[in-house]
Amino acid sequence: MPALALCLVIPALLDASGFIILDRPAKEIKELSLHPGEKSNYLDLKEIADLLGGRLEWESPGERLAWRLEGRSFVFEDLIAFFTADGRAYQLVAPCLLDGPRFLIPAQFAVEYLPGLLPRRFVYNKLDNHLVDRTGITQSEPSARGEQREAPLRPVPSSTSKDGMSYRIHTVVIDPGHGGRDPGTLRRRHKLNEKGIVLDISKKVVRKLKQKSRLKVILTRDKDSFVLLAKRGQIANENGAGLFVSIHVNSAKRSSLNGSSTYFLDAAKTDEERATAMLENAALQYEIEGTDKKRLDEVNLILQDMAQNEYLRESKDLSTFIQLELATIKGLKDRGLRQANFAVLRGTYMPAALVETAYISNASDEKQLNSARFRTRLAEAITAGILKYIDHYHRKLASGS
Ligand SMILES: [Zn+2]
Repeated sequence: MPALALCLVIPALLDASGFIILDRPAKEIKELSLHPGEKSNYLDLKEIADLLGGRLEWESPGERLAWRLEGRSFVFEDLIAFFTADGRAYQLVAPCLLDGPRFLIPAQFAVEYLPGLLPRRFVYNKLDNHLVDRTGITQSEPSARGEQREAPLRPVPSSTSKDGMSYRIHTVVIDPGHGGRDPGTLRRRHKLNEKGIVLDISKKVVRKLKQKSRLKVILTRDKDSFVLLAKRGQIANENGAGLFVSIHVNSAKRSSLNGSSTYFLDAAKTDEERATAMLENAALQYEIEGTDKKRLDEVNLILQDMAQNEYLRESKDLSTFIQLELATIKGLKDRGLRQANFAVLRGTYMPAALVETAYISNASDEKQLNSARFRTRLAEAITAGILKYIDHYHRKLASGS
């Protein structure tokens, strides 16, 4: 039903006198001003958001501006020629510019990136230089992303924003760590590897969550497949997930170390936390793809960490609830709540936790991990923690605190 489409016309992108017209189906036409710059023509992000919807929010006042649209989060930074989409960095032809009340971004974003990053919503027509917004179409057709239809412009839950923007949690993403060519941590003697153990636990968590709630539960992988770390967070962001739980098995040189711990994303404070983060972030070695990796890493260092900041408190609460449940498992030492800088959590725009269920490097833990009953017990604990957190969160929403 293209009659409902919205159309952004970009008649003279490279011409400083050009402008962009927003052509609505009802023949309502609006113009977007094109601001000429040295290396690029610019659009005002605030004007774009006014026309296309979504939510603008300063990540860092006067520096980083986030535009949240369709469950995705685009973050632009003054004087930086990159933006991030759900924590992933993309290069722009010229730096963004904060210019008085305007936040100018290269027009390239609307022409090249927006259709690529939100293909369900935007289509770029090269012949006519039109960016077509298919909002009307997706609203009139049954959507594959059912959850998003309830709050198409604001699917990102946040109890920390001050504008009363808070959402009930409908969708949960469970992330079995590693997979495919990345086995995770290994124990050859018993042919145990992390990727298999955590997939089993994760599937059990999904089953139990579905039994005990009406939540939509999504796995980042449901078989032995390789999934990029950044992709895992992206899956959660795209599905408007209200929380993200990554499930792992720990390993240490010291074989006496044992037990479970639950992590949220923050700077590690202890050697043990740092070691665990290094172990899990080593999964990145399986995804080196090109020469720009190093540069992207540098940019990511600057831009990516902010993703979780606003959910720090919620992530800590979520982790606490999960760990309290794990602590009730007999024969499993409670190593407590921890914090470290995990790559897999960095790009998630929601409360997120990483569970280290037990140590495969410890003889007793290893034996337990090998038992299906123990894995079921772990899944029950993680499920209970998630449900208790959601209950706590919804109560907080209801009381408006
Ligand atoms: Zn792991």
